[in-house]
Amino acid sequence: MELFDSRTAQVGSMPVRRALPARGRRMVGAWCFADHLGPLAVSETGGLDIGPHPHIGLQTVTWLVDGQALHHDSLGSEQVIRPGQLNLMTAGRGIAHAEEGTGHYRGTMQGIQLWIAQPEATRNGEPAFEHYSSLPQRELPGVVITVLLGDLAGQRSLARHDTPLVGAELDLFHDAVVPVRPDFEHALIVLTGAVTVDGARFGPGQLAYFAPGRQELVIATGEPTRAMLIGGTPFEAPIVMWWNFVARSRAEIDTAFDAWRADRFDPVPSALPRIDTPPPFWRTWPHA
Ligand code: MN
Repeated sequence: MELFDSRTAQVGSMPVRRALPARGRRMVGAWCFADHLGPLAVSETGGLDIGPHPHIGLQTVTWLVDGQALHHDSLGSEQVIRPGQLNLMTAGRGIAHAEEGTGHYRGTMQGIQLWIAQPEATRNGEPAFEHYSSLPQRELPGVVITVLLGDLAGQRSLARHDTPLVGAELDLFHDAVVPVRPDFEHALIVLTGAVTVDGARFGPGQLAYFAPGRQELVIATGEPTRAMLIGGTPFEAPIVMWWNFVARSRAEIDTAFDAWRADRFDPVPSALPRIDTPPPFWRTWPHA
């Protein structure tokens, strides 16, 4: 097992712990990005406020521990998400979306957003959006497993995935043994609580990486703990990730950046201002 520290960042008004990419570990299977959001107090004047922005070449997985969020996208999707539910957006050749508060929720907001790199076979395909209001669960000694994507512990999610992978929440209340596929690499990201694996204790703000070859993860915990388990077969190709885009070359990133700047993505119905970013550094410093 290898432990990687998350970086702190800010997304809209939300403090996040960015677990992926980490220095020295850029992907886990096709999973290429993980932001642990919050906890953040939601009030009349503050909450989730991520205005319209574009994506290409990836799927976004949104999962809440606390709170509510409202998703709008350029396909016309409008979806409230609550804890225990899955929002899965497939960008393909391009989509734009906004994530905001529902306006009537007060309390704490906490969750995780992950990105999955799409393979060559689908990354230039049609965008799509799926919502699952409930997901398959399995209780094993010490843990309730909720399967967001793929198969785990005999349960299968119906959510779309384009490469062999798994994504699950582990709701741990005692020591547990979670069976995993030996051909997958895996990672654990603790959202609340703490765990001990292979003699090392870790909690929020770290990512634990497990190379392929394991049949199970033996997880000890002394307190109620929620953790995300992600995994998959090592990804087929190196990716180029910049801002909200996943591609294979800087030229593809440039094309997507220009399309957003020129307002060529379909509109997102949202009252929030659209999000822009300065050009990629290689345009300013072409020899970098
Ligand atoms: Mn997004």
